[in-house]
Amino acid sequence: MTTLAALETATRHALLRLPYPEDALAPIISARTVALHHGKHHKAYVDKTNELVSGTEFEGQALERIVMATAGKPEHRKLFNNAGQAWNHAFYWRSLKPRGGGAPTGALASKIEAFGGLETLKKKLATAGAEQFGSGWAWLIAQGGELKVVSTPNAEAPFTKGQTPLLTIDVWEHAYYVDYQNRRADYLQAVIDKLLNWDFAADNLARG
Ligand code: MN
Repeated sequence: MTTLAALETATRHALLRLPYPEDALAPIISARTVALHHGKHHKAYVDKTNELVSGTEFEGQALERIVMATAGKPEHRKLFNNAGQAWNHAFYWRSLKPRGGGAPTGALASKIEAFGGLETLKKKLATAGAEQFGSGWAWLIAQGGELKVVSTPNAEAPFTKGQTPLLTIDVWEHAYYVDYQNRRADYLQAVIDKLLNWDFAADNLARG
């Protein structure tokens, strides 16, 4: 039987279930940080998005569609910020994995060679994250068949500019302050070396 509750559930945005236990990213990212970041920050963006779309033209739309439709529209800034953050966080958790890092293989590895090699790419990712002033995100993206490293402020996402996100690292202070205090560069280096999920990046590249 289709109940009203089931229909509502289907149209509400759900908080991504973490693809690993809360303590699985430790010691690079502590269980306490993951619990707060996922269970409080990420959840709040999802809840707020659901609240803001309720009864509007955006109700029942996919998160990507909402982010695309509200990007750069001052009248929808609050919804854009919350929906963007909901999307970016779901992408971030999947960009990481326990015992990640290492070297990618296959088509992604070839693209990385064309980019200048894995060490160059990792350095650019670390620099993009460190130099993003204030809150934001460091990204590996594909555009026009090439890889690029970019950063975005606040809730902005590269796909609104026609770029395909492959991986992201959250550089908002809440992502690292409990574990690294003000040492954002140390957080970035550890995540890049030990947690990046290159299989996820390869899948995103293949789907393009
Ligand atoms: Mn965050």
